[in-house]
Amino acid sequence: MIRVKIGDKILAEINPIKVTIWNEYVDEKENPEVSGIYPQGIHNALAKGLEPYGFHIQTATLEQPEHGLTEKVLKQTDVLIWWGHVAHEKVKDEIVERVYNRVLQGMGLIVLHSGHYSKLFKRLMGTTCNLKWRESSEKQRFWVVSPSHPITQGLGEYFELEPEETYGEYFDIPAPDELVFVSWFEGGEVFRSGCVFYRSLGKIFYFQPGHETYPTYYNKDILHVIANAVKWAASPHGTAPTFGHFKALEP
Ligand code: ZN
Repeated sequence: MIRVKIGDKILAEINPIKVTIWNEYVDEKENPEVSGIYPQGIHNALAKGLEPYGFHIQTATLEQPEHGLTEKVLKQTDVLIWWGHVAHEKVKDEIVERVYNRVLQGMGLIVLHSGHYSKLFKRLMGTTCNLKWRESSEKQRFWVVSPSHPITQGLGEYFELEPEETYGEYFDIPAPDELVFVSWFEGGEVFRSGCVFYRSLGKIFYFQPGHETYPTYYNKDILHVIANAVKWAASPHGTAPTFGHFKALEP
C-alpha cells in the first residue's frame, strides 16, 4: 500500500494493482532470433514496459516449481497475464485447474497471442480456439469497435503495428461478450483481435498481437492497451453470489 501524506495527515491510500506475468519462457532460450529481441524473456520485457503504469508486478515461468503459480502467488494476484507458445502441453493439468478456479473467483486474466491455444484458455472457452496463421511480417491495423470500452481509453479510431504475424478467421471461440478490436492484415485477412469474456466473477481479455520474432511488446500502443486491460480486469467486483437453496427474504 502507498500512503500519500502531508505531515501526519493521510491524504490517500493507494493499493497498486497486483499483476503476475506468466511466460512459458522457452522460445527465448532456444531460438537466437527470439533472444535477440527479448534477451531477458518476454515476461521481463512486459514487466519493464508496464512499470510506468504503477502496477505491482511479479513474473512467473514454466520451469519454476508449480510453474510459479502457487496458491499463494495466485491469491496475491489481481490480474494474470499469460504468454505461451510451444509448451502448452507441459503445463500441468492441476495448475491449469487452479488458475481456472481463481479466474472464476474473480482474478482478471489477459491472454496474449499464441496463448489462444493454451490449456487454460481452451478450458475457459470450451472450444478448440483454433485459427489461421501466417508469418509474413505484414502490417496490422487494429480498428476500435467498442469506443466506450475502458480497454480503448486514449486510443484513436485505429492504430497500426508492423510487422506482426497474421492471424485469420475463423477463430473458433464462443461469441465474445464484448468485441473490442477487429484487425485487418495486409494480406486481406480480418481477425477479432481484442475479445472480452466474463466467466463467473472473472474478467478475461484475449489480445492477439505478440509473435515472438517481432518486437511487439516494446510498442507503446500495445503496452497502452495491455495496461488499460489490467485496470479493467482488476476493477472492483460486487459481492460474491450465494448459490443453492435460499430462504425467502420476506416472511
Ligand atoms: Zn506467433
